[in-house]
Amino acid sequence: MARPCVLLKYGELMLKGRNRGKFEEYLRESLRHAVAGASAPVRISQRPGVVVLSGAPVEELVECAQKVIGVSVVRPALRTARTVDDTVETVLQALTERFGSPEEETAKRRFAVRAHRRDKTFPMKSEQLAAHLGSKVVEARGWPVDLSNPEVEITVEVDQREVFVALDKLRGQGGLPVGASGRALVMLSGGFDSPVAAYRAMRRGLRCDFVHFTGAPLTGPSSTYKAYALVRQLDRFQGDSRLYVIPIGNAQRALATAGAGNLQIVAQRRLMVRTAAALARDLGAQALVTGDSLGQVASQTLANMATVEQAAELPLLRPLVAFDKEEIIAEARRIGTAEISKLPDEDCCSLLAPPRVATKTTPAQFVNVERRMELDELVPKLLADIQVHVPGAA
Ligand code: ATP
Ligand code: MG
Repeated sequence: MARPCVLLKYGELMLKGRNRGKFEEYLRESLRHAVAGASAPVRISQRPGVVVLSGAPVEELVECAQKVIGVSVVRPALRTARTVDDTVETVLQALTERFGSPEEETAKRRFAVRAHRRDKTFPMKSEQLAAHLGSKVVEARGWPVDLSNPEVEITVEVDQREVFVALDKLRGQGGLPVGASGRALVMLSGGFDSPVAAYRAMRRGLRCDFVHFTGAPLTGPSSTYKAYALVRQLDRFQGDSRLYVIPIGNAQRALATAGAGNLQIVAQRRLMVRTAAALARDLGAQALVTGDSLGQVASQTLANMATVEQAAELPLLRPLVAFDKEEIIAEARRIGTAEISKLPDEDCCSLLAPPRVATKTTPAQFVNVERRMELDELVPKLLADIQVHVPGAA
């Protein structure tokens, strides 16, 4: 009797040589996190080029697997013994489960059988097996074969120990498994952009921590609540996420007092990346990630981006640099952060914002103001006030 399971495929990129083992390890790690809350214990078994999930109801396994970054295709399947007769029986069983018994069904569906062998010792070649199964389906249901444009595509995969039969091919998140590319620290504000940037960074294999700057003590806690809720949502894609909250209200006021004037916003941003880079170093992260999109607002002109970047000791990654706002919002809806981002909050950036933001700054313009700030002492002081949250744990 065939048993249900779910097959997962991943992008073949990067799967050469030594990388493959690492890649699969990170993927299994993410899968373990994704299935941790399932209603029954889930077995995750690695086969050459495919992962098999079983143990919990298939719908549940599919839902878990579709969240996992690095999985490109999700296939609910039936697994059976590795013989031709068992395979025939399982194909017919799969069709009965989906379309009812041949007697009940009147529709004649155009179908194709695609067979692949991961184990070449199977007694039939792939084409022979596909043809044989096809003839059995014709016999049982009277359906016409259509190899170029079938309504029903029956996929049969011959593995070392068993055979898998699938009718559906669902999309996964794609990308590279979280962790496979290293670690990054995401600069998370309350807006639409930075959570989407974080998701994109994770999708390229970066395990992310998060830092949020608040205007405290000049502003209330609303932006921290939002950051917390956003990280909780993003945590579904990686697990074990940390949110670091740093109050910079007093430092913002000091910048204004030091005479930052229309450089205030960019000066704040420089302070943020400087502080974030110091934190990233402590955390072992190799890059910062921001939600900047070129030209979206005055602080995101090319000149200002360069001025900000110059203050960061680590590479500053901007996954959304070439995205339009509508594209960003559409993705925010898809990953479930849009509803949180649109809530109102007291954003520290609007605090002390000058009437006109300088759009063509250079690092040299900040020398005087920053000298008065005594950054060597200020940055460690900001880091000493840090609060750490683990939003996914609750
Ligand atoms: P977002 O939609 O992410 O808020 P934005 O369009 O409001 O971005 P800015 O306010 O200029 O743009 O911020 C640009 C980037 O700087 C943000 O995407 C984020 O990465 C970082 N950033 C801004 N404010 C903060 C903050 N309070 N804490 C941490 N990072 C911040
Ligand atoms: Mg913002």
